[in-house]
Amino acid sequence: MILTLKNFFYKFYPMITLFIVTTLTTVIGIIERVHGPFSLVWLTNAITIGVLLRFYENVNWRHYLICCAGMVLPDLLIGTNLNQVLLMTTANIITISIGYITLQRFAMRTEEGEWLGSLHSVPQWLLLCQPALIIGSLVGSLALFTLYDNAFLQTAFYWYLNESLDFIVFLPVILAAPRILKSFDKDLLDVFLHIIPSILLLFAFIFIKDKIYFLMASILIIPTIIWLALSGNLFLTTFGISMNGAFFFMWIIHSTHGYLHFSENIYISAVRTIVAVLALCALTIAVAISERDKLFSKLSQLANHDDLTGILNRRAFTKAAEALTSSLKKGDICSMVLIDIDFFKKINDVWGHQKGDKVLVAFCKRLKQVIPDSQLFGRVGGEEFALLLAKTPEINHQELTATIVNELSENPLTIDNEPFPLTISAGMVTWSEGQKYETLFKYADLALYQAKNNGRNQWQEYLSCQKMNPKPNFTPSLL
Ligand code: GH3
Ligand code: MG
Ligand code: MG
Repeated sequence: MILTLKNFFYKFYPMITLFIVTTLTTVIGIIERVHGPFSLVWLTNAITIGVLLRFYENVNWRHYLICCAGMVLPDLLIGTNLNQVLLMTTANIITISIGYITLQRFAMRTEEGEWLGSLHSVPQWLLLCQPALIIGSLVGSLALFTLYDNAFLQTAFYWYLNESLDFIVFLPVILAAPRILKSFDKDLLDVFLHIIPSILLLFAFIFIKDKIYFLMASILIIPTIIWLALSGNLFLTTFGISMNGAFFFMWIIHSTHGYLHFSENIYISAVRTIVAVLALCALTIAVAISERDKLFSKLSQLANHDDLTGILNRRAFTKAAEALTSSLKKGDICSMVLIDIDFFKKINDVWGHQKGDKVLVAFCKRLKQVIPDSQLFGRVGGEEFALLLAKTPEINHQELTATIVNELSENPLTIDNEPFPLTISAGMVTWSEGQKYETLFKYADLALYQAKNNGRNQWQEYLSCQKMNPKPNFTPSLL
């Protein structure tokens, strides 16, 4: 088989990416290490686990081998002792594989496959990180004990604290990263409202840190990450936490002039623990808020949309249409169209109710293709639909109504892979100054009645000068 360049790229691209991730994070760790015997943040393990969980399926020994290569190469290139490199890499790869396997197997994900999607997932995720953290720190400490005769339990304890912070501060960023990196959805303003004060607080921290004792200055980090957490945007929060966390530690290294050795410095470990606990609090708040927001939007979707067709239900359509018509000013162009499927009862009688439902779904889907997205469209009765055309000078409302009616008679719907002929009737009315939605609806219903009376499969416009002649006992059916 001849491998095309494209196939080659697809086949090896994930491995190259993984290699770049591990190499880059290791290089950052090595640069950090220059300031002290051991880095205060070692990104590789937490970030690699996150990347494997989020972007790789069926992880096998080849992936771990690539991770090893990414970790070993930079150290070998700068001439680190081979024994140290191999032993440390063993400890790191054990952390990565155990972390990946436990989280992949047991961590809770939402129906959409999101990590950290519900409040329970935070403590559960934290618990599931423990085997990797505990075993990784024991192996790491054993490596240091073999190499430098370090105090075993004490080193293991500091290693554990060190790695815990990395897991709490950096791993969630990748787990919460938006599936498609467009994120920040529609609510850009909300994002800005959270980012700007956070940046200002961070600047305040930089400004006062030299003037007062740094732990006092660090108090400013707390409102920063809590403020981010209140945004309910998980990615924004985790990103903010990691930025603040990284900045905080860089600054500690800077202010202590590089004379740190983590195994000797219980004070740094205390700070580390505080930052981790703070990050965890912020993460919990962010998850709780985003879970609540998701629930609200689910509830509002259920309350405002029709179960069967997914378009606006009568209540939501009426509310939106009332608001829109009452905001109209003299000279505005607005029309209301009522659409009713012809002889729908017969469809139910002949084909059954279930088929009738499928027809309604396919019908709405088709209409949505014809109606511009910006226009209000809802289901106001069993097989009756309403359309409010407003503020669209580029659309001729009469033409659009005619197109809708013709579309159905000319291009039958496809139900169960078979063409399904169907016709509709429509009544239309153009808004004139001072008219309320209620009146529009009444007139559109009268026009619809006229279209039905005239033989169906057509549309009729309500004209005020023209007598619409309803039967003496006519009451608008939909009002
Ligand atoms: P016309 O041309 O005069 O509109 O005739 P029609 O049979 O469409 O009129 P009618 O309003 O009497 O019948 C509407 C039918 O729509 C009655 C009802 O059983 C059916 N229907 C209402 N809601 C649903 C639904 O959700 N699913 C199904 N399958 N049928 C529905
Ligand atoms: Mg009907
Ligand atoms: Mg009807």
